[in-house]
Amino acid sequence: MTAEEIKSISLEKLIEAGGFDCDCGKRHSAGTRKIMIGQGAVDRLPELIAECGANKVFLLSGHDSFTAAGEKICKVLDSAGIAYARHVFPVSPVMATEHSVGSAVMHFDYECDLIVGVGSGVINDIGKVLARATGRQYIIVATAPSMDGYASATSSMELDGLKVSLDSTCPQAIVGDLDILCQAPMRLLQAGVGDMLAKYISLTEWKIANILLGEYYCPVVVALVENALEKVVSAAHGLVRREPEAVKAVMEGMVISGIAMEYAGLSRPASGLEHYFSHIWDMRALAFEDAGSDLHGIQCGIGTLYSLKVYDYMRHIRPDVSTGISYVNKFSTDEWNDSLIEFIGPGAFAMIAAEKREGKYDIVKHRDRLSRIVEKWEEIVPIIDSLPSYDEVYSLLKAIGAPVSAGDFGYTKEQIRTTFKMTKDVRDKYIASRLLWDLGLLDEAADCVFR
Ligand SMILES: [Zn+2]
Ligand SMILES: [Zn+2]
Repeated sequence: MTAEEIKSISLEKLIEAGGFDCDCGKRHSAGTRKIMIGQGAVDRLPELIAECGANKVFLLSGHDSFTAAGEKICKVLDSAGIAYARHVFPVSPVMATEHSVGSAVMHFDYECDLIVGVGSGVINDIGKVLARATGRQYIIVATAPSMDGYASATSSMELDGLKVSLDSTCPQAIVGDLDILCQAPMRLLQAGVGDMLAKYISLTEWKIANILLGEYYCPVVVALVENALEKVVSAAHGLVRREPEAVKAVMEGMVISGIAMEYAGLSRPASGLEHYFSHIWDMRALAFEDAGSDLHGIQCGIGTLYSLKVYDYMRHIRPDVSTGISYVNKFSTDEWNDSLIEFIGPGAFAMIAAEKREGKYDIVKHRDRLSRIVEKWEEIVPIIDSLPSYDEVYSLLKAIGAPVSAGDFGYTKEQIRTTFKMTKDVRDKYIASRLLWDLGLLDEAADCVFR
């Protein structure tokens, strides 16, 4: 399959059992076996359940998603004569914590051989963990195209007050009924667009990491995500009127992004610097009562805007070795780690431990990267230049009514500036803030962009 061919391929073909061999050296395959996105898709649930060979279904849902879709699903199951048990979380909002998983496990009916999650991000994350814990098959009926975790086998959870990524069960099938999705709260529709716009940055950073560090890279996966992103951008304006075609484009974009991560075996196709802004805000919200936050996709949309500003700054720099070396010589890891703990809270301990394993501050490794950056800079600039402008993305978010500043959930300029600098430590992924640290320009960039 070529990068050109994958743009016109159907969703069915993308998830065909066995996958396909790619020129990147990997065999790309997805865990999900069926995707139904369309009007009245929920009516075909009995067909899916029969294909899974299930005798009794366990419905897992939140209060709002049960009203939005669960009642309809119960009617469909009743008229098809399919037995089911259900657990609707009594609290709202449902949190992706060990307490919710505990509640789901303790209400689980072990006669059920299939779990059907009814909801979006949080319910899907809990449903995937429950499926893994009980060894049952799993189907998700999406109630909003708000994030790209539908097709993935990991769950973004909170454990002991910290954010963790848990291995879980990939849904056997994803059902996106447009009659339901089009009625999703507008904020969740906006969030889907934000999580999709993030791909501008993640794909750019994947390309850069490939050039600078020789990191694994696949142009076919990139083309797949770029194509989905283009469709979302051109359809997004229709979200305001809840046009089915616009909602469909976002839902498909979210599903395809998940498949792209499964294909690549890493999160490079879907998350970069912009996601790390969001991760830090999430960690702070867990650690400090007064720290505000918003939906994942909303935060990622804002993170995308901030990242575009950073890349705009990078267009004008002239990398040189001496600036990088003198900056790093003056850098105090102990002081830096103290500031991480102060700003992020307990979540910072895992980041500091990860750095101990990775050793990015190692002087020899740093010099190596630095000379590669200087040597390869002319290849990097055109990649940065191909990003859309800040104004373009800002106008799009504004047009759909999405927030465009972390100030909306209480962040000051200074805190946004600090968030940016700390993004470099969220994971062991090479992103813009790391590149700027290597060049000795992280503080200058932060001052310049977030002054
Ligand atoms: Zn490939
Ligand atoms: Zn995301």
